[in-house]
Amino acid sequence: MKENNECTKCGTCCKTIFIPLTLISNEMFALLKMRKGIRIFENCIALKAPCKHLTENNLCSIQDNKPRLCSEETCWTDTHCKELQELKNEGF
Ligand code: SF4
Ligand code: SF4
Repeated sequence: MKENNECTKCGTCCKTIFIPLTLISNEMFALLKMRKGIRIFENCIALKAPCKHLTENNLCSIQDNKPRLCSEETCWTDTHCKELQELKNEGF
């Protein structure tokens, strides 16, 4: 899903954090799946956890110093592209 690489500033990528399922024990997974604000995908879970550096206008307040992963997890790069697109469309 790389048809559009223009950021619409929806903020979804900064309000969500992805955790690979390989890092989550079965016991923890059982706890997490009962919670609201969770979306389970094939290889990861998405947690609704807005970043404290996200402004009300969905801009990054530490743009020049943001972590490398933030640059990589856009909705048009390979990392979590499909998942982010789904969450965006759902208004997660
Ligand atoms: S999910 Fe995509 S469009 Fe929305 S803020 Fe992130 S990069 Fe921009
Ligand atoms: S540091 Fe900036 S780009 Fe990274 S999640 Fe927070 S607001 Fe988004």
